[in-house]
Amino acid sequence: MTLTRKQLLKAMAGAGAAVMVTPQAHASSGRVIQRDVCVIGGGASGSYAAVRLRDLGRSVVVVEREDRLGGHTETFRDPVTGGTADIGVVGYHDIPLVRRHFGRFDVPLSFAKTNPGTIRFADYRTGLPVDNYRMPPMSRLAEYAEVLEQYPYLEDGPDLPNPVPPELVAPFTDLMAKHGFADLAPLLYLVSQGRSDLFDLPALYEMKYLNGPAVHGMLTQTTVTTSRRDNSELYEKITTHLGDDVLLNATVTEVSRERAGVQVLVSTPHGPRTIRARRLVVTVPPLLANLARFDLDSTERALFSRFSPGGYYTSVLRLPGVAQVPIQNVSADAARQHMPTMPGLYLLAATGIPEIFIAYYGSSRPLPEARVRADILAALGRLQSTGVLPTTQPRFEMFASHAPFLLSVSGRDIAGGFYRRLSALQGRHNTFYTGAAFHTNDSTLLWRFTESLLPRI
Ligand SMILES: Cc1cc2nc3c(=O)[nH]c(=O)nc-3n(C[C@H](O)[C@H](O)[C@H](O)COP(=O)(O)OP(=O)(O)OC[C@H]3O[C@@H](n4cnc5c(N)ncnc54)[C@H](O)[C@@H]3O)c2cc1C
Repeated sequence: MTLTRKQLLKAMAGAGAAVMVTPQAHASSGRVIQRDVCVIGGGASGSYAAVRLRDLGRSVVVVEREDRLGGHTETFRDPVTGGTADIGVVGYHDIPLVRRHFGRFDVPLSFAKTNPGTIRFADYRTGLPVDNYRMPPMSRLAEYAEVLEQYPYLEDGPDLPNPVPPELVAPFTDLMAKHGFADLAPLLYLVSQGRSDLFDLPALYEMKYLNGPAVHGMLTQTTVTTSRRDNSELYEKITTHLGDDVLLNATVTEVSRERAGVQVLVSTPHGPRTIRARRLVVTVPPLLANLARFDLDSTERALFSRFSPGGYYTSVLRLPGVAQVPIQNVSADAARQHMPTMPGLYLLAATGIPEIFIAYYGSSRPLPEARVRADILAALGRLQSTGVLPTTQPRFEMFASHAPFLLSVSGRDIAGGFYRRLSALQGRHNTFYTGAAFHTNDSTLLWRFTESLLPRI
């Protein structure tokens, strides 16, 4: 007898032991992996969820499409000096959860330097230095922090009051103008990053990203980072800890969810796998294209189709002869609050490794890698033509695309209850969601949010 998928899942329900599957039932599905929870995506949220679920006695498996865990956490290791530089996630908030998570994997933390200190300014559009610009002092973030205090729930998750406060729905530029700190724009952008139209988006996004704990960490210089300047060490140790419970280079080929449980078909370098689990935890960007193999229902489809992704790219450049001082892109035009023209390169950050800089490039939409690389080289050429940079040959040592980055919806959608409906998806079809799209691009807050979901999972 060949069981239908529904019958198989029913058989699974309540059964602690592995379900025997007839070869005919899933002829192409390969080995069967039976777990309590299947986690899709092994970045900050997925790897945290897996570790903590295992702590709580659940069996897990993580499906990650890349060859490593960590997602937006990525580290450059210089073959010449042995120095390291994090080109993705750098800092965390100093809360007990963070100390515990790093501590258990023996990854020591130290306070990070969040004050940019000495910095040069140039208009990357013309290549000319902007010598008369002065970055507002970090202490002025206190003015912004006062506004944030009115919205403490932004730190907790996607839930918003009903009705949503109009200030959160209107563009962030309006909020800056209303509260009299429009001139902070380049500073706020420098410490927020990643999406060129960030300030034109509903203020909700910037206020969740540059949130209360983040600003507190900057004002008190208590943001933490790994002492060895290698955030990837955490994820390498989690990979070892999870062992066979991580499937790397794995592609989801089909997800079907029934009341009794979920089934995930995965293609791996070691052949196909069939994962049967009671719960699914989705941590990947929930764009329709990324969930194409999921059995999404019309509600899920309608919600996920509203998201617009941005682009964000970081690369490691070797710039011979360039001193280790950051160079920030600011417009010479004071009437534009010195905001640079984007999409484009907006910062060459010093790493402390001789000749090595991190190039940060933001865009309101994903762009082809070739276009980003060409833009970066063109901007460097302009900076060389004006003498801001010496005319030495730049070299890409590493290129990382973080697109799709910061999934946003319109102010109208937010006011119409988008995040309330998104939140209501938790638990439907045995599926739970965490990850940046459901909260914000902040590892600490994502871990806290994920932790709050665990009892339900
Ligand atoms: C350059 C940069 C700097 C940042 N700096 C900081 C910082 O200093 N501090 C901070 O707190 N936050 C920072 N962030 C924000 C960062 O996005 C979050 O901290 C956090 O890493 C997001 O975690 P996540 O789990 O949502 O996503 P990710 O870490 O991106 O994890 C998602 C994972 O899912 C995988 N995946 C995607 N699609 C699929 C699929 N279909 N199947 C299987 N796997 C899939 C991806 O490969 C990835 O591993 C930074 C982000 C960037 C890009």
